Parts: sequence; C-alpha cells; structure tokens
Amino acid sequence: MVDVVVVGSGAAGVAAAITAARNGASVQVMEKTDQLGGAYGCSGGEVWIPCNDRMVEAGLDDSFEDAVRYVKGLSHDGRFDPALIERFIRKGAKAIRFLEQNSAYRTEIAAANGDHLPRLARSKPTGRLLVPAALDARRVLGGTRRWVRDVPNGKSAVRQGFSETVRSGGPALVTGLVRGALDAGVMFRRNCTVSRLMVESGEVVGTVLDQGADRFEVLARRGVILACGGLVDGQHLVAATSTREGLVWTHEGLRTDVDGRVKAARGGVIDGLYAVGAVAVDVLGDRHPGPGAALGSYLTFGYLAGRHAAHSPVRPVDAQLIV
Ligand SMILES: Cc1cc2nc3c(=O)[nH]c(=O)nc-3n(C[C@H](O)[C@H](O)[C@H](O)COP(=O)(O)OP(=O)(O)OC[C@H]3O[C@@H](n4cnc5c(N)ncnc54)[C@H](O)[C@@H]3O)c2cc1C
Repeated sequence: MVDVVVVGSGAAGVAAAITAARNGASVQVMEKTDQLGGAYGCSGGEVWIPCNDRMVEAGLDDSFEDAVRYVKGLSHDGRFDPALIERFIRKGAKAIRFLEQNSAYRTEIAAANGDHLPRLARSKPTGRLLVPAALDARRVLGGTRRWVRDVPNGKSAVRQGFSETVRSGGPALVTGLVRGALDAGVMFRRNCTVSRLMVESGEVVGTVLDQGADRFEVLARRGVILACGGLVDGQHLVAATSTREGLVWTHEGLRTDVDGRVKAARGGVIDGLYAVGAVAVDVLGDRHPGPGAALGSYLTFGYLAGRHAAHSPVRPVDAQLIV
C-alpha cells in the first residue's frame, strides 16, 4: 500500500510523482515497458510556458493577461475550458520552477522559436518556448540510465564536443526528472501493466497490475494518477473500470478539473482518480499556441495533480475491497 500510485512514467507521470513525493506522499510509478520515459523520452522536450523564470531573467516582457489573451485568440470554436487554460497559464511557470528545484532538469530559452501566430495580439517573438539544458546521463543517473529512454542527440553532442552520454531534448528532460523522482523517494516498477482500477463505493482506491504471469494489487491511500499516455491505453483501462458515477470519457480523453481530478458523469469528480497528460482532454483544445504546448501543459497538470493527491485525506482502504 502506498499513498499515490502513478500509472505511466511519461512526462506527466514523473512530474506528478516528484511533486507528490516532495509533498510528503509515498509514491509508486507503474510502467508497462522496461524503460522509463514514455513518448517524451524521444521527443524534442520543448515546453511552452508563458511568464517563465528564464524570461524574467532575460528581461523579456510577458504577463498572465497577455498570455490568456493570446491563447484565447487562437480558439475559434470555443471548445476550450477557460478555467483550465487560465490555470495552466497561472501555474505553468511555478510548476517548471518546482521541477527544476527538485530534479536535474534545467531549462533554457529556445533560440529559434516564438509563438505559432506572431500576428495575433499579445504573441511573443521569443521566450515562452523552453528547451531542456543538455546534461550528462552518466553523471546524473550512473548505471541507472539504462532504465531510461536513451535517444542521444548525436548531432548536438558531436558539434559541442560532448561525450556520448550527453543528452539533450527529450532525453535530457526524462533523465533530469527521473533523477529528481529517485531523490524524492519515488519507487518505479517496470514491466508491469496496470490492467484495472480498484473501486470501492465510487472511489478509486488502487490498481490491479500484471507483471508476467503474476497479478498484484496495489492500494492507494490518497489517489491514483492516470498518466498512461495515448488514448488506446487509457480507454482500455477506463473500460475495465466501472464506478457508480461513471467517468466522463470523450474521444479526446478524460475530462478533468483544474487539479487533474477526473470528472464524473453525474457531476463532481471521481474521488481518488486523476488524469494528466495525453490521457486527459487537452486543456488547450484544438489550438496550440506554440511548439511545446503539449508538454508544457502536461508537466503543469502533472505537478498540480501530484500536489493535490499528496494533500488529499488518507482513505481507509482495505485489501478486501477489490471488485
Ligand atoms: C518525436 C516526437 C517529438 C515530440 N516533441 C515534442 C516537443 O518537443 N514538445 C511537446 O510538447 N511535445 C512533443 N511531442 C509530444 C509529446 O512527447 C507527448 O505528447 C508526451 O510525451 C505525452 O506524454 P504523457 O506523459 O501523456 O504520455 P507518454 O509519454 O506516452 O507516457 C505514457 C507512459 O505510460 C505507460 N503506460 C501506458 N499504459 C500503461 C499501463 N496500463 N500500465 C503501466 N504503464 C502504462 C507507457 O508505456 C508510457 O511509458 C513529441 C512526440 C514525438 C513522438
């Protein structure tokens, strides 16, 4: 039994795990493959975060109001949830700051890119897009780096004269965050697939996971955070779960509130269940303000869900309650 179970070791999951652990929770991350890092381990690792600390240091102008105006100007169909957008813009910089302070992940302003639509009101020509600073995986993770997605950026490594263990882009992001998670006491379990959620009286109280031919139950006193990426995995997991209230599942993913809690079909939220990253409905709807908007919002809501779960009341879960 742990306080928080995180399903998936992608960007959103590891951000949630670090945050929950640093807020005092015992955390276990379940990963179905033999490597940690999910899709972001081979991504560009770019994050779009308005009003970020690097902009402040560089004296670049930005504000909450500018960013909200720009993002809302992008959406023409009104499908986005203003509360989620505002939450992302207000908390994004704080989330990245927290992750940098509690891991080996460091950010730099991307030299080349600005916002996607420079002619739109309150867009910025540079600053809102951050890239991970390169780091040496051997120094940061030692032998543990073999568990982490490993797609070295050969070009930049050779050009800058770095050793072959230097990582940039997504591999630098995952290496830095996994270091932070390990330092925070997060336990990772690889090669195990969460196949069901455990439900009691409409609350999610744990997970059932398959590892080889074995099946285990892990109870979660404070919550389960779904961070299992693309919709196929998420849909499978949700389909295997029934709660009295029902989950709000759309073709775009699970609907969530401003803390990543999964919304219930009959209103309110499903107690004990969070969804962050690609398994949740994209907070930015159909429009992306700039490159890196996916990972920017995933890290932010991973942080918010991890913090919320860690401070949720402990529930009296019982191993006999599996359905
Ligand atoms: C080449 C490439 C470059 C990209 N570059 C960028 C970029 O620069 N900026 C940006 O914003 N986005 C980028 N993206 C998109 C971005 O990387 C993804 O949207 C993001 O990484 C998804 O993160 P996630 O945490 O939601 O899920 P994932 O990274 O998909 O992680 C989910 C994890 O959960 C595990 N899992 C799934 N089901 C289960 C289960 N039942 N039990 C246990 N574990 C499970 C999976 O194995 C996986 O490790 C890029 C994508 C690609 C492919």
